[in-house]
Amino acid sequence: MPYFPDLSPYANRPSRPGDRPFARRVGWLGARQEFPVGRVPAQAVRSVLAMVGRRQVVNVVRSQARCPLCPPGGSHPVVMPLDGQDVVLGDAEIEVTGRDGTVYRAPDLIAHYMDAHSYRPPQAFLDALLADADRAG
Ligand SMILES: [Zn+2]
Repeated sequence: MPYFPDLSPYANRPSRPGDRPFARRVGWLGARQEFPVGRVPAQAVRSVLAMVGRRQVVNVVRSQARCPLCPPGGSHPVVMPLDGQDVVLGDAEIEVTGRDGTVYRAPDLIAHYMDAHSYRPPQAFLDALLADADRAG
């Protein structure tokens, strides 16, 4: 998976000056890039896993990406438990919308990044995840 800085524009086509990006990237971590660390509400991780578990995902690919942060030879694919189910990560993106209408796209591995590598995404993204969890009940 390629690395992109948090909140960089997500574009599938070349943008023109003045274009408003339709989404911002969050959690596109790389093996050689530093990333912010800190506490993340457990509900934010659960929210990502719930979305993946019910296949509320976008840009699904055929194979699971490896975690770029785990040592080579680590477990593959990355699997996390949610309510007794195994959620397999690495083959899709999640999309959430912030209160101000900003759309965020993150690799589903972001659940693992937060849980295992203490990655802390931007607060606006966390807020959007928690709001989504509230809506889903
Ligand atoms: Zn990892």
